Amino acid sequence: MPEQGGRLSDAEGRRRSELVASLGAVRARIAEACEATGRDPRAVTLVAVTKTYPAADVVALLSLGVREFGESRDQEAAAKVGAVGLLRAEASEPSREPRWHFIGRVQSRKAASIAGYAAAVHSVDRPEIVRRLAEAVARMERPPLDVFVQVSLDDDPERGGAASAELPSLADAVAAQPVLRLCGLMAVPPIGADPDTAFARLAELSAALRERHPEAAAISAGMSHDLEAAIRHGSTHVRVGSALLGRRPPLFG
Ligand SMILES: *Cc1c(COP(=O)(O)O)cnc(C)c1O
Repeated sequence: MPEQGGRLSDAEGRRRSELVASLGAVRARIAEACEATGRDPRAVTLVAVTKTYPAADVVALLSLGVREFGESRDQEAAAKVGAVGLLRAEASEPSREPRWHFIGRVQSRKAASIAGYAAAVHSVDRPEIVRRLAEAVARMERPPLDVFVQVSLDDDPERGGAASAELPSLADAVAAQPVLRLCGLMAVPPIGADPDTAFARLAELSAALRERHPEAAAISAGMSHDLEAAIRHGSTHVRVGSALLGRRPPLFG
């Protein structure tokens, strides 16, 4: 916790220096990848994936200009959102408000909790989740929830993501809900897949989606190890964890 007057302890200062360096490196990778394909870096949103890392890291990244944060487990996310709120309230200088992106598998019984803090959900992959999120958002006083439909690039139902054949109906279901805003598609390449092949396929699916839903132009793709390939193929939202925050213990994936 920051001391009075906003001075940092040694440990906080060291962590902040680490984050300054890793954030600079990630921003440079994004800028370089954009330059290589003639894209505007402002068209790529960095979502800092803070799973397994503490609220203090979120607050430090906020002070460094990061605004979008990704979490993949509701229980951890809900606690961290609260903790970040407390830290921001205690801070001598108010930081900007974070925007939370839920990027993990959505369990139907968690949909209402997620709708309580998330600005966006990247992992909507079945009609029941569309319905549950819409019901929850409708009960709250909050802006529409941004929704990315997650697609499975190898059509393997085990790993999360809708089969590509299900995309049109799922996208229609999201678009039909006034409290949801269909943003576009999200994918995680299959284990062992060539990222360029996977993201090229995702770009094709995105183009097909935009024929039905021109507004759904966002593509959530690219993580620490493959963000360059994702940007080459049109990613608008890179979800970066370990390259920013450090390696997570294997137990937490
Ligand atoms: C953890 C996670 C990320 C971030 O992965 P890194 O390899 O740490 O950058 C991105 N997307 C999803 C869906 C994740 O679960």
